[in-house]
Amino acid sequence: MFPSESEDLFDLMGDRPDKPEEACGVFGVYAPGENIATLAYFGLFALQHRGQESAGIATFDGSTVHVHKDMGLVSQVFNEKILQELPGNLAVGHTRYSTTGSSRRVNAQPAVVKTRLGSLALAHNGNLVNTAELRDSLAARNCEFATTTDSEAIAIAIGQEVDSGLGWMEGAIRAFQQCQGAFSLVIGTPDGMIGTRDTNGVRPLVIGTLPGAPERYVLASETCALDIIGADYLRDVEPGEMVWITNDGLASFFWATQPEPKLCVFEMIYFARPDSKFHNDSLYSYRMRLGRRLAIETPIDADIVIAVPDSGVPAAIGYSQVSGITYAEGLIKNRYVGRTFIQPTQTMRESGIRMKLNPLRDVLAGKRVIIVDDSIVRGTTSRKIVKALRDAGATEVHMRISSPPVTHPCFYGIDTDNQSQLIAATKSVQEIADQIGVDTLAYLSEEGMLEATQDATQNFCTACFNGRYPIPVPALLKRSKLMLEKLEPATVGS
Ligand code: SF4
Repeated sequence: MFPSESEDLFDLMGDRPDKPEEACGVFGVYAPGENIATLAYFGLFALQHRGQESAGIATFDGSTVHVHKDMGLVSQVFNEKILQELPGNLAVGHTRYSTTGSSRRVNAQPAVVKTRLGSLALAHNGNLVNTAELRDSLAARNCEFATTTDSEAIAIAIGQEVDSGLGWMEGAIRAFQQCQGAFSLVIGTPDGMIGTRDTNGVRPLVIGTLPGAPERYVLASETCALDIIGADYLRDVEPGEMVWITNDGLASFFWATQPEPKLCVFEMIYFARPDSKFHNDSLYSYRMRLGRRLAIETPIDADIVIAVPDSGVPAAIGYSQVSGITYAEGLIKNRYVGRTFIQPTQTMRESGIRMKLNPLRDVLAGKRVIIVDDSIVRGTTSRKIVKALRDAGATEVHMRISSPPVTHPCFYGIDTDNQSQLIAATKSVQEIADQIGVDTLAYLSEEGMLEATQDATQNFCTACFNGRYPIPVPALLKRSKLMLEKLEPATVGS
């Protein structure tokens, strides 16, 4: 999903989110003797921001796999009784936002596939770009699909290799080598747990250890899921690496011939939680550096700096620190309104009720306001925010964006709109400023965004800002995120 103009603003007027939607969160824990289902539950709880459509946990109890998954938030899908019915030594969990395959119960993960060695349960974050080819190749080997997801295709590909006589590790590696695109995977088997990232490591995956015996390992999309269960961060799974976690500990294999790091820079800017760490640095710190750089690159005279909460807050504080302009809270977020699929009444719409963000007239009236957000996708929410600020008495509204203009869609697991719907793909900065109704608008430069990472600039995917896709995207895939439904309606699950 795409971020910031955003999910936070999802219910500003009852519209769909005007931010990129994150793909998914994955979690795995190998801890014999521990209550692994509860650990997985809390791990997923910490990763809820990465997907709110469905959640699932699969546990392995010897050769038996126990699975519970359903549509809804983690707290809606699980309760104590359900968790008690998920015994075992290892658990694999998933929170989902649909990228390939529509949002339906049958597409909830982990995807479970039977093999000659027992079942496997797979949790996937990312998006393959060769799903159609992979499914064709599997169908030619008489594989049947229950869902429309690329994740199930990966699970079936592993099952195929295992059923051809390979072991778990060899079978998984052979399957990974057939996949193109973005995939961070956690896979449970009766014999151990697998974690891997694609050749470019587009989506994150970290390894943690639980206190006590050294063989108790955790895999998670972000370090915040380690913190919540008291696990220590060990290291990242490297691009093109597979880890195999068993009673004997953790073994590492590199299956990709030419790994080339291309972490999604949008994970840093918006998707991942600010308390998660990338390269031992919190994303809160990174986002503050973005704001500082933004203040240097795009100065403007004003009375206060405010943020679009919550994702714009660190950058707004950074902007305030460098500019010397006071930081204030001008928009209050209703933290107890989760995602709702209930549409507001017509009267609520007409009265412009703001269910999730409410402007503070006391702070804004008579002020020249700089408002900092992390991105603009379609621009629809930005326009509503600007109007709300002016209605609350702001005399000037200057918008500053802590990333460059989003001009290209993502094919690697983030749900951006079609290019034609991305406001910066078709309009100049001045035209966008006119459309959303600000006095001035300025974006951070690509150089500033990358320098603030304090890492080598070539280590990141920045395709949605410049169209330079590190993994080639087939023309067919560019048509729609629901590619499988369109191409193969007969295979769509119920
Ligand atoms: S195109 Fe690249 S940088 Fe943009 S959201 Fe997708 S993976 Fe991230």
